[in-house]
Amino acid sequence: MKKICFLLLAILGQVTLAKVSYKNYKVYSITPKSEHALKTLIDLETEAMEFSPFQFWHGPTKVGHEVTLMVGPEIQQNIKNMLNNSDFDSRIMMDDVEEKINNENRLWRSDVVNPVNWTVYNTLDEINNWLESLAIEFPSYITILKPGKTHQGRDIVGVKLDFSPLIQKQVVFMESNIHAREWITSAVNTYILDQFLRSTQTDIRALAQKYTWYFFPVMNPDGFVFSHTENRMWRKTRTRYNLFCYGADPNRNWGYQWMNGGASQNPCSDIYAGPRPFSEESVEVMRGFIANITDNMIAYLDFHSFSQMLLLPYGHTTDPLDNYDEMMKIAEVAMAKLEAVHRTSYIFGNVAETIYIAAGSSMDWVKGEFKVPIAYTYELRDRGQFGFLLPAEQILPTAEETLVSVVSIFEEYEKLHPTP
Ligand SMILES: [Zn+2]
Repeated sequence: MKKICFLLLAILGQVTLAKVSYKNYKVYSITPKSEHALKTLIDLETEAMEFSPFQFWHGPTKVGHEVTLMVGPEIQQNIKNMLNNSDFDSRIMMDDVEEKINNENRLWRSDVVNPVNWTVYNTLDEINNWLESLAIEFPSYITILKPGKTHQGRDIVGVKLDFSPLIQKQVVFMESNIHAREWITSAVNTYILDQFLRSTQTDIRALAQKYTWYFFPVMNPDGFVFSHTENRMWRKTRTRYNLFCYGADPNRNWGYQWMNGGASQNPCSDIYAGPRPFSEESVEVMRGFIANITDNMIAYLDFHSFSQMLLLPYGHTTDPLDNYDEMMKIAEVAMAKLEAVHRTSYIFGNVAETIYIAAGSSMDWVKGEFKVPIAYTYELRDRGQFGFLLPAEQILPTAEETLVSVVSIFEEYEKLHPTP
């Protein structure tokens, strides 16, 4: 134990001094083929600490389901030994994570304020400055929203977009980067907002004008900043929970079926649900804000990465609840439209059956508490070649195909529920 603590302190010392390096970290795709193999992976996940030289990108769920595991050089031989067994199928998906990090955002410059133009991944300040600039450019349509502050005192910034503020309309909420490292998500969300303001395409104009829209590109500002400045692979909030471990998973922290599967009570885990529902300040702030606009809410869309999936509620059960059949029908059409743009194929289904059991998400809370008709979670590009480190050249194509599918979701819903 003493030895482990010493090691942790040594690593902690390094981490506080410099940005975390992922040099020679590899990413494995692993499929457990037996209960024993699955248990081995689950045991490994349970041992995860803040500075463990491994991290699950997709955790173990059941036999036959692919797991994505990032592994540091110091334990690569151990992992190889573990996988050298007919109970596992495995392959290396990424050879050097640090190299991918260096190539991900090549055109971004640290010495200037980079414009938000979907050729680079922007920082929190750049995104928030851009939102403020929209409120100046489009004062009749855009209102800046700052519903509250995070644990570290940052504003959570969003905008309301309404082309006819005097006419009451149904409401749509668009959320991204509740998971810090999923940078593609805020890039896609801001692109959709920008297209709603500037596109001359008829179907996009019609959709933008039909509803009152709320865009919150960065739902977890503390984690997002940390993923830019300290640790590219950071996922959680930045609340300190013990000597070594920070952060709860803000998408396991919402008070609907909280801790009912796919979440952890270990503060060092990447899926730590927090000590209680809504323990994270940023989640509590957004809970209050969202609860106030659900009366008239028709849709809640949240963006995550990666996997190329469109997910519908719920995460705690595979039962087809609420308007499951309708949501599946709409998803089928929307994903075909998405694929037609750049040949990116998506699968779709409820969270628990498609990806894994995961309770306590914002989408489930909105659907469960308020029965909002349309509720989807996107897992954006890719399938794992770059994972969270999707090169910035892919922002625009990802955003384009996603917008086409968003338009389609509302068109299909309208066909099933024509407004008089
Ligand atoms: Zn996510």
